[in-house]
Amino acid sequence: MRLFGFYRTGSWPGIKNTMHRYLTEHSVSCPYCAEVISILADSSAGDGHYIEDCQVCCRPMQVTLTVLEDDTVAVEVDCAG
Ligand SMILES: [Zn+2]
Repeated sequence: MRLFGFYRTGSWPGIKNTMHRYLTEHSVSCPYCAEVISILADSSAGDGHYIEDCQVCCRPMQVTLTVLEDDTVAVEVDCAG
């Protein structure tokens, strides 16, 4: 279960209950090393994308969030740059 418990919860100050529903956990496959990793998607601002380092190989992934009609969030990752 090494994929879990890796969240930098300390880097999300103030997020306890109020924003909880916007933060969803997703399992994605790293475009570089193909490891399946869990990322925490923040959909509070709707669709968007950002760069996040792979937890395994530390290379930057472009994470794309798409908020669907039923408020679920689709997450895609790709090589950044
Ligand atoms: Zn990786």
